[in-house]
This record gives sequence, structure tokens and C-alpha cells, in this order.
Amino acid sequence: MNMTALTISRRLRTVAEYCLPGAKVADIGSDHALLASYLLVHNLASFVIAGELNEGPYQAALRQIHTLQARDRASVRKGDGLAVIAPGEVDVICIAGMGGQLITAILEKGKSKLPGVKRLVLQPNVGEELVRRWLLENGWQLIGESILEEDGIIYEILVAEPGDPYVPYQGQSRTLEELIRIGPCLWQQKDPVLVRKWQREQEKWRSILAQVKSSGRPEAAARIKEIQTEIDWMEEVIACLQAGN
Ligand code: SAM
Repeated sequence: MNMTALTISRRLRTVAEYCLPGAKVADIGSDHALLASYLLVHNLASFVIAGELNEGPYQAALRQIHTLQARDRASVRKGDGLAVIAPGEVDVICIAGMGGQLITAILEKGKSKLPGVKRLVLQPNVGEELVRRWLLENGWQLIGESILEEDGIIYEILVAEPGDPYVPYQGQSRTLEELIRIGPCLWQQKDPVLVRKWQREQEKWRSILAQVKSSGRPEAAARIKEIQTEIDWMEEVIACLQAGN
């Protein structure tokens, strides 16, 4: 397969850009092994392991890797999460396109495989704060975060290395808990896409608020107050991001 024949999403290209050049990379939950193929075709990795739990995508990954000239630098493995790698086998682990809950469950279950890993590149579709909290509690320092919009969907990519996990949260104008929600690196970057993310989140909560208000239930009062607090917090976050402070 030549380089132009392999097109992948901007989301996966961004994940690929965060892999250390020449590293041994494991892509867990690889589906059709597109990320693994891209890393090989563009010589961004010295070796790739594509891990898949499910038979259909595993077969698709095998077929995809088979089309590559560089297939001697790839291994497609069927199994649950980090079970497909041996301790010390890879430098970088990518887990992309899943919910934050599944990503953290995979990391937690596969903890014994993490010593020696130099970098984690994680792209949760939802529940980013769960991933940040797991990194914080397990000695992984966020060294970068990216946010991007593709086909109307907003994605975040979290990059971590072993280190003091509190460093990116220090000296910031927000509390630790707020930064776990927003992203400490994203808060500093103030990308317009981050503003859009929180505007959308706020719109979602505004419509929930309208529904709760119209329900007319007596127990709704406390919930209305809670939701309003949330909306006000988002309003303030958006204003700060827009003002760039
Ligand atoms: N990583 C690709 C991407 O970002 O485009 C594919 C994402 S796809 C939505 C999630 C993939 O993870 C599916 O192919 C699914 O079979 C696989 N998967 C789910 N749980 C897994 C687990 N515990 N271990 C390995 N793969 C898993």
C-alpha cells in the first residue's frame, strides 16, 4: 500500500503525531488498524501492535495490516485491553475512540504492563475527566492536550508521561477539580474549539433545565438550583476563555 492510499481522520492523525518517533507503539482497540497502518506507512513507529477484543475488527485489522509492505513491523493480537502486550514490550500506548470509563478500566486492569511505558496517548470520546483523574491518581503527568472538531464532533486527546501528575495543575487560575473537568493544558491554550465545547455543553444543560422546570414536580426545585449553578459556572468559564484570561 502506498502512502496516499491510506487516509485517516484528523483525529487519528493527531493521535499519531503524539507517538514518539521511532517508538514501539501499541494501539489498543485498533478496530481496522488504521492508526497502526498510518504509523507504519509514514515511518512514525519502529513496530506496532494492534490489539482488538472483538473477532470482526480483529479480522479486519489482520486484513488491513496484510495489505502493507511494512507488515513485518506489525503484530495484530486478539485480547482484552493491555493483555495483548508483555511488560516492557512497548514505549507508547494509544487508546482512542472509546469512552473515558472504558479507557480507565483498560489502564486499571492492565497496570502491570505500564512500567517502562514512556507515553500514553488517550482519546476519550466522552468522560475525559475520568481519564484525567485516573492519570492524576496513578502518577502520570499530562504533558499535552489537544482539542479538535471534525465532522461536527469535538474530540480531546490527552498525552501523559510518568512524572509528578500535579505539575500541569499548579499555578493556574482554576481549582484542581475545575481543571480536571476542563483540562489543565486546554485551559492554558484557550482554543476556540474549547469555547465551542463548553457552549454546547451549556446549551444541553439549558434544555435540560427547561424540561425540569416544565415538569412542575415539587421535588424539581433542588434540581433546578443544581442545574442553574452548573450553567452559571459554564457561563463564567466561557467568558474567561473568550477574554483569554
Ligand atoms: N481506536 C479506533 C479509533 O479511534 O478509530 C477504533 C475505535 S472503536 C469505536 C473501539 C474499538 O475498541 C472497537 O473495535 C472495539 O471492538 C474495541 N474494544 C472495546 N473494548 C476493548 C478492550 N477491552 N480491549 C481491546 N479492544 C476493545
